[in-house]
Amino acid sequence: MRIGIGYDVHKLDYNRDLILGGVKIPHEKGLVAHSDGDCLIHAIIDSILGACGLYDIGTYFPDTSDNFKDISSLKLLEKTRELMENEKYEISNIDSIIICQKPKINPYINIMRETLCNVLRIDISQITIKATTEEKLGFTGKEKGIACQAVCLLHKIKKGQ
Ligand code: ZN
Repeated sequence: MRIGIGYDVHKLDYNRDLILGGVKIPHEKGLVAHSDGDCLIHAIIDSILGACGLYDIGTYFPDTSDNFKDISSLKLLEKTRELMENEKYEISNIDSIIICQKPKINPYINIMRETLCNVLRIDISQITIKATTEEKLGFTGKEKGIACQAVCLLHKIKKGQ
């Protein structure tokens, strides 16, 4: 078995859609990035890549490349799944945290889990997402950005599968 960790932050600003876990969430601000800024997916990608012993997200999906401009992070997640499969790993489980003052994330958690488990081809029970605030402290508390953390556990695909 192999474990991996991922962490990502993006800045919140006006005139951007807020997309987390592949789900568009109604809010006055969204995440600023070269891609759609989905920092939950970015943290999950880095956790999977790390567990595989591969390089980080910026190596495979550089923010200097026009190929990834405004791209849906779900597409990056799909490519990450392929990289993982090439290494002959499959997902045991993923756990993650969204650190965000506003908006309330809880109503969207199950749809995010469904969206992500479809792309990763796992059961919904294998991916969990939690949301917390930082009690109005720091950059997340001041609504300047959103941070996400993820860990994943992988195992080698058994022969004959
Ligand atoms: Zn990111």
